[in-house]
Amino acid sequence: MKQIPILGELKRGSTQRHMIKLPGAVLAKDEPRPVISVTGAKPGPVLFVNAGVHGGEYPAIEAVIRLSRTLDPEKISGTVVLMPVLSLPAFRTRTPFVCPVDNVNPNRVFPGDPNGGYSEQMTHALIKEFVVHADAYIDLHGGDIPEALVPFVICRSEAGVAATEPVKAVNKVAAKSRELAMAFGLPYVLTVSKPVQPAKGSSSYAAAAEKGIPAILAEAGGVGQMQENAVETLTRGVINVMGSLKMLDAKGGRETTANVEARMSNDETRSKSKDSKKGQALAAATASPTPTILTRFEWLYTKNAGMWYPNIAAGDSVKKGQQIGTVGDLFGDVLEKIISPLNGVVLFLTINPSVLENGLLMGIGVE
Ligand SMILES: [Zn+2]
Repeated sequence: MKQIPILGELKRGSTQRHMIKLPGAVLAKDEPRPVISVTGAKPGPVLFVNAGVHGGEYPAIEAVIRLSRTLDPEKISGTVVLMPVLSLPAFRTRTPFVCPVDNVNPNRVFPGDPNGGYSEQMTHALIKEFVVHADAYIDLHGGDIPEALVPFVICRSEAGVAATEPVKAVNKVAAKSRELAMAFGLPYVLTVSKPVQPAKGSSSYAAAAEKGIPAILAEAGGVGQMQENAVETLTRGVINVMGSLKMLDAKGGRETTANVEARMSNDETRSKSKDSKKGQALAAATASPTPTILTRFEWLYTKNAGMWYPNIAAGDSVKKGQQIGTVGDLFGDVLEKIISPLNGVVLFLTINPSVLENGLLMGIGVE
């Protein structure tokens, strides 16, 4: 059976809790990170799932916790390794986007650097100790504390038609990643070839794919809240991927979404919060059988600092030339009209009214 050395021995047919000290000089004083391994009674692939690369994306974090409490090791083939929160410093301090130790967005410095700053050592440890030992990798996210979004999955696109061996290998991993993205079952699948923001490194899913591990990043929920429908969407998505990896066909019973959901509803930690009407609409949208494939991700920024007044919502379609909001100053004068540069769908939207100069307003996905 495949092992993940940092977790020690994993026993067939058991769920084990681990408290992990990630290696790295600047990580030495960190509190240990909880990790849960669910090792199936039958052999099969290793799936690694984490959340909390951004510490304020709570439905993603809760989805990982729920999976750890509800997956039945007797009914799965292979091993699911679950880390609820990577960036514990951001989680503890409710810091959006960056890790407060070094003010770096960890999802821009993958695959990290063992001799770099805090976020680089943390992402390096995640890749080295977990991702490369897996057969597939899912990084769960959502809108961060000031962001709303419509659920979507990102994966690396195929590099092109070049016949060289490295490109062929990347394409094979990209094709597998896309299969996992489609299996997750969200309304939109975005395939990207390069980072959307210029940065020192790349994002989790891209770095994993470069190392030969099929990987996706799935997003649901946001605005610093615990939306029940988003938790369920992400939990169901991971189960769907497990199905596509044939991890649910253990003898003696078949793990299904319905089984997991039934156990979840019996779990005392389950949130009793009611979905909003909008939440229900999003949940309905996630049942969409064929995701829309988007191949371009355009991010819009404001030139001016001030008050942001969007007149669209996450999930809305926008047309090229459409005015989609304004930025005003603190006298109420309009400083800037925000115009959509293309036709697409608003995948995420900054809903916090205070924006900085060159502040991120939204991401538009384009078919
Ligand atoms: Zn995130």
